[in-house]
Parts: sequence; structure tokens; C-alpha cells
Amino acid sequence: MSQKYMKVERIEHGTVIDHILPSMAFDVLRVLGLSRDKTMSILVNSHSKKGGRKDILKFEGVELSAEEANLVALVSPKATINIIVGGKVVKKFNAEAPPVVRGILTCSNPNCISNQDEPITTEFRLGKDESHRYVCTYCERDIVDLAKRVSA
Ligand SMILES: [Zn+2]
Repeated sequence: MSQKYMKVERIEHGTVIDHILPSMAFDVLRVLGLSRDKTMSILVNSHSKKGGRKDILKFEGVELSAEEANLVALVSPKATINIIVGGKVVKKFNAEAPPVVRGILTCSNPNCISNQDEPITTEFRLGKDESHRYVCTYCERDIVDLAKRVSA
């Protein structure tokens, strides 16, 4: 390889999340809730071959399940997930917005029962139209800016 250095280390075994919307990598991390002791590379606002910019996340020794990977779609709908084993991509798929999300997003309606001191897990359903939005099961409010609604 003629490059003097590589921006991001190659991984032998783990998960690469590619085509994350620019500067959304940290929101992807929050959505996944992976513990911070994992070895990971974060590339933010990297130049994409297709033009434009993107973020990339690489986790060593972690194989994301399809369910986990789909959570990525909440904050970055067109991300691709690559599972790496023995230095090779053994599985590649697109993050698909899950139909129902429990306990990860918070409702933007302060009067929603999920924002009171009730022992309730938040629940949102994917909107039926083409737009990328979720609807609160309890108060029917639309949640549009999902990244801002990810609970810590
Ligand atoms: Zn609500």
C-alpha cells in the first residue's frame, strides 16, 4: 500500500458502520448505547467516494445484531452495516428503520404520560408515510428530529 498512513486502522473482527450522515457518528453511538470501553474508530466528515461527506464507525470485537443495527437508522437512515470476520466482510446490510422503538427515544410533548413520573417505557411507531418520523404511542405526537430525542 502506497499510503503513508491509514486514516483508520483495519479491523480483523468487528463491525463497520459506513455511510453515516456527516457528523452523526456520536448520535449513532448514543443510540447503540455501547459501552465506552470498546475499541473503536470514529471518522467524522470523511470525504465520500461518491462526493460529499460521511461518518464511519468501526467497532473491534463487536458484531452488531440486525436489531441493534436498525437502531442506527433512527439517526442515519442510509447507513450500511458490515460485519467483519477474519478481516473479510461476511455480512453487509442496510440499517432499516424499526417499526416500533421502545425506551430509546423520549417524547417531545411535556404533557405526555411518558414524561410524567409514571413507570412507563416510551414507545414510538414509524409513521406510515415516506417521511422519516415516529409517532408517540401514548399521545400521538410526531417526533421529527429523532437525534434530539435520544435519551442519554
Ligand atoms: Zn408522547
